Amino acid sequence: MYYNDDTIIYLDGKWLKAKETSTSLYSQTLHYGSGVFEGIRSYKTEDGARVFKAKEHYERLLYSAEKMHIKLEYSIEELTTLTYQLLEKNNLENAYIRPLVYLGANMALQPTDEVHVMLSAWEWGKYLGDSQLRLMTSSFQRPNPKSCFVEAKVTGHYTNSILATTEAKQNGFDEALLLDMHENVAEGPGANFFYEKDGKLFTAPVGNILNGVTRQTIFELADELGFELEEKFFTPEEVHDADGAFFTGTAAEVAGVESLDGHKFNFSWEDTMGFDLANAYQNRVRKKEYKQFELV
Ligand code: PMP
Repeated sequence: MYYNDDTIIYLDGKWLKAKETSTSLYSQTLHYGSGVFEGIRSYKTEDGARVFKAKEHYERLLYSAEKMHIKLEYSIEELTTLTYQLLEKNNLENAYIRPLVYLGANMALQPTDEVHVMLSAWEWGKYLGDSQLRLMTSSFQRPNPKSCFVEAKVTGHYTNSILATTEAKQNGFDEALLLDMHENVAEGPGANFFYEKDGKLFTAPVGNILNGVTRQTIFELADELGFELEEKFFTPEEVHDADGAFFTGTAAEVAGVESLDGHKFNFSWEDTMGFDLANAYQNRVRKKEYKQFELV
């Protein structure tokens, strides 16, 4: 699914066939989860394939690497150029791009000098699908921000996400909604969360969440559409009585939510601000207005 016989990936300065690559079984990333990565999308536009907010994603990759003491010797410009080359080599326009920075053999709990950079891409539909999601408040909390850098996209952080999504699915829900250590709503396993009440949008402030690139795009679009939006702490009980809600993320885009813990929201998805924002988001990523966000 992620690659076939012809897929080309970038690995440490070389373009290689994905099926011909390998890695060390003693990689520190494999054993301890100390790697960093990104999830980026490119879209087919009138001007060809364009990577949405490449600069913001690669800024975050450099930030994540720095926080994890990983020496990543690439600039945002180099990574962006490589990403466009990757798309071209694989003949992709609408694609999901996965850069991964992983480490060489090191069984000690110390930084590793051997740093590998891999860029891959594949066609990937909307991560959470097209129908409105039924969420469950997870029994798993997001990691305490004093236990890690929550704003860094670190491979090991995703064990928490896997546990939460698996629990939600095992209980018959589509996806999980995780709380922070104070029992306020934080975010989804791989997406930020917004809800709507009485004509106003609410989302958790930064501090216990990954500050999503899509989340920031929603702030811009809400402003342009004249929607009031507030960052605040809130409980799942407040969400139970919401008019509408949605997840945002590069892979998920803007995904409508139908209910939390079986409490159905007051409005149907088409009548919510989230629906308008989902449409505005598609326009932003696919049309010419994206240009102001482009690096190249
Ligand atoms: N939160 C988490 C935990 C995520 O994994 C993601 C996906 N990267 C997001 C939020 C959304 O971030 P973005 O909009 O930058 O994709």
